[in-house]
Amino acid sequence: MKKEITIVGAGLVGALLGALLAQRGFAVTLFERRPDPRRAGFLGGRSINLALAERGWHGLRLAGLAETLRPLAVMMRGRMVHALDGTTNLQRYGRDDSEVIWSINRGRLNMALLDAAEAAGAHILFDRSLVAVDWDKLELHLADDAGATSEHAAAVVIGADGAGSALRAALTQTIDLRERFEPLDHSYKELEIPARDGGFAMERNALHIWPRGNYMCIALPNAEGSFTVTLFLPNHGNPGFDTVNSAAAARALFARDFADAVPLIPDLEQDFMHNPTGMLGTLYLQRWHLDGRALLVGDAAHAIVPFHGQGMNCGFEDAVELAELLAGAPDDTSAVFAEFERRRRPNADAIAAMALENYVEMRDSVADAHFLLMRALERKLADLHPGRFVPRYWMVTFSRLPYATALARGEIQSQILRELTTGKTELDQVDLALAARLIEQRLPPLRA
Ligand code: FAD
Repeated sequence: MKKEITIVGAGLVGALLGALLAQRGFAVTLFERRPDPRRAGFLGGRSINLALAERGWHGLRLAGLAETLRPLAVMMRGRMVHALDGTTNLQRYGRDDSEVIWSINRGRLNMALLDAAEAAGAHILFDRSLVAVDWDKLELHLADDAGATSEHAAAVVIGADGAGSALRAALTQTIDLRERFEPLDHSYKELEIPARDGGFAMERNALHIWPRGNYMCIALPNAEGSFTVTLFLPNHGNPGFDTVNSAAAARALFARDFADAVPLIPDLEQDFMHNPTGMLGTLYLQRWHLDGRALLVGDAAHAIVPFHGQGMNCGFEDAVELAELLAGAPDDTSAVFAEFERRRRPNADAIAAMALENYVEMRDSVADAHFLLMRALERKLADLHPGRFVPRYWMVTFSRLPYATALARGEIQSQILRELTTGKTELDQVDLALAARLIEQRLPPLRA
């Protein structure tokens, strides 16, 4: 008999996990709160497009989706930094076009994952919202849009129902997850740069950034020629969402700080007033599972701020790791869930910390001369000491090295860069012999 697994949430992580488990012979049932996006249209709610990196592609490759999705994704070679005077400068992410990230539409990605899950044999029930769990019977209580309720007896339940997880809420009725949510005091708003003359209104193969110190705008390309712009602002202050609270104030902010983008956003006022302001924050749990009966994955276990573009990528890594562990010991979910938490939690904590740090880098440091010197030196040392001095961004984005390794080595490398560049303004002033000694002493060779 096939081992039964119930997944709550058929978003990005739930659908991938469903596909991977069904491919490995599990009898998978998914319950999704929303209607089927392939029939009803995608009711996104947030971030229209996402940056997909190596960890994400790895999961998609295992699900057999990489070939289908590659043509729908737009390559982003680096950050296109827009200065206040409108000049632009591309800061490449990697050495060449093998080291890039990709912008992909959330709805299309989700639909492809749903197709893959169903093709592998998973059973997906839409318009079924988890409302409660009877833990004694392991019975899920579900409701549809019209309020009709139903029950489902589960053998094992996995919560992939996102940051506001109903399964997590049900778990807290029976165990203490030691949950802590740290809201960021900045929020976001999405606007649109439409396609122009059938093409892109700005360089298509870049993630555009307008860094302005304490706040910023970014824009990611969409395959059909538009860009989704995201404005990140403090909740309070000047500017802040509490003061930029009218169409006129939004226009004035853009005219002053993002002037080169203004002619490209024809519906600036309407977008600003009608699109919701999204909250951001980091979710920390000390426990992700209830013995072998229930487990949380993806944002339900570890929602993070979006500044490293890694939330989904990290969630896809969860799905891959969990599917492999379960396939190895399908009848010992207690041991598998405990091992999953042991392996993944330090990595989730590490990417949560790096995502918070990256906000400061994106909105502020990318425009700073000393930061640019450190980045130039970082590239030089990476070339001189391959496998030993590896930029943190590279480890997070282009490799599948554990996030915790990237965080720990990244801290040592930053310290080395600071020591070597203090008081310097040019790369040729840096003592490369000293750099070699510091690297030898402090950074053991990286194991693949
Ligand atoms: P979700 O995508 O939230 O999916 C949860 C699913 O569960 C949904 O389909 C929902 O309808 C369903 N559900 C919820 N409640 C119930 C219920 N009670 N019963 C049944 N179903 C339910 N990550 C990246 O990797 N790259 C990026 O560039 C990036 N950019 C981002 C930008 C922003 C502004 C934000 C907010 C996030 C960004 N992320 C990014 C993070 C990414 O969106 C999340 O990490 C990812 O969506 C998590 O996937 P998930 O499946 O765990 O949760």
